[in-house]
Amino acid sequence: MYRLLYTHCLLLLVREIIIFHFIAHHSMRLIESLLPAQCLVCALPSNNKLICQYCEKKILTQRQYCLHCALALPTSSDYCGDCLTKDHLFEHIHALGDYSKPLSTLIKQLKYQQQLVAGELLASLLKTSLELRYTQEQLLQFDLLLAVPLHAKKLRQRGFNQAQIICDSLHQQLGIPMLTKQISRCKQTLPQEGLSIKRRELNLRAAFTYKETPTQTLTGKNIAIIDDVVTTGATVNSLCKLLKKRGVNSITVFCISRTPLSRNEVK
Ligand SMILES: [Zn+2]
Ligand SMILES: [Zn+2]
Repeated sequence: MYRLLYTHCLLLLVREIIIFHFIAHHSMRLIESLLPAQCLVCALPSNNKLICQYCEKKILTQRQYCLHCALALPTSSDYCGDCLTKDHLFEHIHALGDYSKPLSTLIKQLKYQQQLVAGELLASLLKTSLELRYTQEQLLQFDLLLAVPLHAKKLRQRGFNQAQIICDSLHQQLGIPMLTKQISRCKQTLPQEGLSIKRRELNLRAAFTYKETPTQTLTGKNIAIIDDVVTTGATVNSLCKLLKKRGVNSITVFCISRTPLSRNEVK
């Protein structure tokens, strides 16, 4: 008798909990839908977009940068000193902007706070900046998009690859196919932050491998590498070496931020 009463009470309690969660969930969604959407950058009303017009315009305003490596330039020259004297394996780097606010904040929100919506916004801003630089015809010349791969252990820890999030969105928006399974990061590298240029190159030597598949050849392809932040280009160069060995025709880099090494990291 008591056992029956106990089971009945337990069932009632479970039902109450389910009803409470249902109401709480749906009322939150109702409140969210009634509130005006806010800009992810300045938190002001954004007309149901992820970013307001003012912040979008500010980010997309052309800065002075090296036409080859996208490094910010203090003067109105076309190329930085490094690009005037060195050859690169890539055609050029296209960056949405420098590694400063608000882009640095959005990148951190994506990478360390798992705010995938920040990735969605960054990818859409990158796509708009690509369309400002290239014609549709030029964009159609790219055969494949390749997100810089993360090592499997890092991928498990973070749960996602931030470069792949941006790449997935560009793939959907631009309709360019992606190279997803053939290239992987085989070496668990040290974090690049705090390392000198030389050490970064050593750290990334032979960091990537290519797995042959009968259906996908890289020979003659024009590839766009996607990354969130490019600093010395050591990661990109390591990938370029592998791709060039596989007969790739051209490599271009699309990234969110291009940043120089800070002074204490240069030596
Ligand atoms: Zn705003
Ligand atoms: Zn340059």
